[in-house]
Amino acid sequence: MAHPRTLDLVIFGGTGDLAMRKLLPALYHLHCDALLPAEARIVGVARDGLDDDGYRSFARTHAERFIGKDFKPAEWAGFAERLVYAQVDALQADSFASLAERLNGRPDGQRVFYLSTAPSLFTTITGHLHGAGLVAADSRVVLEKPLGHDLASSRQINDEVGRYFAEDQIYRIDHYLGKEPVQNLLALRFGNALFEPLWRREWVRDVQITVAEQVGVEGRGEFYDRVGAMRDMVQNHLLQLLCIVAMEPPASIAPDAVRDEKLKILRALRPFGLADVATRTVRGQYKAGASGGQPVPGYLEENGIPGDSRTETFVALKAEINTWRWAGVPFFLRTGKRMQEKVAEIVINFRSVPHSIFGVPATPQHANRMVIRMQPEETVDLHLLAKQPGDVMQLHPVRLDLDFAEAFRTRRLEAYERLLMDVMRGNLTLFVRRDEQEAAWRWVEPIMAGWQAADDRPKPYTAGTWGPAGSSALLSRDGLSWHEEI
Ligand code: NAP
Repeated sequence: MAHPRTLDLVIFGGTGDLAMRKLLPALYHLHCDALLPAEARIVGVARDGLDDDGYRSFARTHAERFIGKDFKPAEWAGFAERLVYAQVDALQADSFASLAERLNGRPDGQRVFYLSTAPSLFTTITGHLHGAGLVAADSRVVLEKPLGHDLASSRQINDEVGRYFAEDQIYRIDHYLGKEPVQNLLALRFGNALFEPLWRREWVRDVQITVAEQVGVEGRGEFYDRVGAMRDMVQNHLLQLLCIVAMEPPASIAPDAVRDEKLKILRALRPFGLADVATRTVRGQYKAGASGGQPVPGYLEENGIPGDSRTETFVALKAEINTWRWAGVPFFLRTGKRMQEKVAEIVINFRSVPHSIFGVPATPQHANRMVIRMQPEETVDLHLLAKQPGDVMQLHPVRLDLDFAEAFRTRRLEAYERLLMDVMRGNLTLFVRRDEQEAAWRWVEPIMAGWQAADDRPKPYTAGTWGPAGSSALLSRDGLSWHEEI
């Protein structure tokens, strides 16, 4: 009988925040559910002078905190046996020898390189991996965001990485695509005949996509100030979510079938001219306020932020898609730090009934609505009107639970678990292809250029609110309001 192939998951940045907070906990859960291949090994890579045991105890100090109630010492002990460490300075070609030594012990194994370091190291790492003879035709590389600062730098990274890895070996992570409700949206849209006829301009009034964080820049001020909300959130996560909502039915769930349809949407986004930038976008920057009942400083008072910074911590904009299906339907995107609540959701607002026979006013409160929530909890709800039991015909809003948590009592995979499984299985459907990423940059760049040309200053908003007043005004001009205001 053939032996199962070995698998080495090599995490560059193996001691970093993302590895401790998300990657190792996700791998631990997969290990506990027996979803990790028996022969899978996790190789942590960083400059620190640790040995395997040192790495295991370093990981353990973080594991209890980030795994929380699911942390079981016995399970952890089994998982920790999979962990090994290689000390590598990504900037030094010769230091890859120690990694080669570890990997060459399993020459026929599958190798996955997860680059969880500063993006400025991505091309150096892939070059040195190639130089050390570690990249095989079936090796895979996982790239974390942000992939570049603009179109030119993202192209440069893609060109460099592409010298050593073919496009189908490159897994660009957008962890929102790994979230269960987002996949459920695909299942609901394309697994049922019910929704598709309604999923168009005739029946959809507007779409709202919100990713609101309660936290501020959390000690990452210097990094964040060079990036801002547009690059950090809109260019990638919000546009990917928009694509999932708006794309045409793909011919299959195969990676390129799905990604071709997403690309068509990105290419069909109506470009923003200077006048649109002024009227259809709102930039904000938080000032001191309160979060969770505690006073919090303003953005300009955070460590590492220049006192005259114009970086936006909030963006709202009105996008439109130039296709027959979506012409005239506004897609409102909104993201910000220090918002009132931590919420990530997609809201599809359907049109009101053409005529009410029940005397119920045709207002947004009474229109049908599908709410796909990714945070704080993962749910999909359809808002309907139903008759309230009783002797009079009285309609009452009800919510139909479409994620069927009761029907499916299996544990849900967290986004990174799902995506790591897909990388190991070689399934690219939920990863971003190069042309998608570049199309997204092509659409956001003129907006950022427009802000610069207009010498735009972000509008201040108090920490712990829903952003500048202009954000509500953006919708009220169309007679609409954000979901939480309905
Ligand atoms: P981090 O906490 O600063 O960790 C960086 C890691 O890279 C450390 O393990 C560090 O270890 C290692 N490293 C730095 N320079 C190195 C070098 N020359 N050679 C080898 N290793 C080196 O960063 P992070 O927060 O984990 O973020 C990693 C990536 O994920 C970034 O691209 C970030 O934007 C992205 N990301 C992070 C999060 C998050 O929640 N943290 C979320 C989404 C995306 P040594 O210093 O010991 O070498």
